[in-house]
Amino acid sequence: MASTEEWQDHAACRDVPVQLFFPPAEHEVDEAKAMCAICEVRQPCLEYAIAAGERFGVWGGLTPQERRSLIAKRRSRARAEAART
Ligand code: SF4
Repeated sequence: MASTEEWQDHAACRDVPVQLFFPPAEHEVDEAKAMCAICEVRQPCLEYAIAAGERFGVWGGLTPQERRSLIAKRRSRARAEAART
């Protein structure tokens, strides 16, 4: 699936109220995460959110804090790999 529109067509949350993914408190994400866990486009959704710098909501099964943590890990890994070459 190449474009944003293509993966969104396969989103498990396509017909779900968007508020589910933007709860008032970050700890109220169980329902959203359960849906992401069975979503066939979880990875492209997550990569889209990271590339777009989405600061709010659950995307690809991760909260904003979890995405920040993943980004930091990826950067750290990239730095380590660059230092080895
Ligand atoms: S991973 Fe979650 S937020 Fe992303 S499209 Fe699937 S259900 Fe929706």
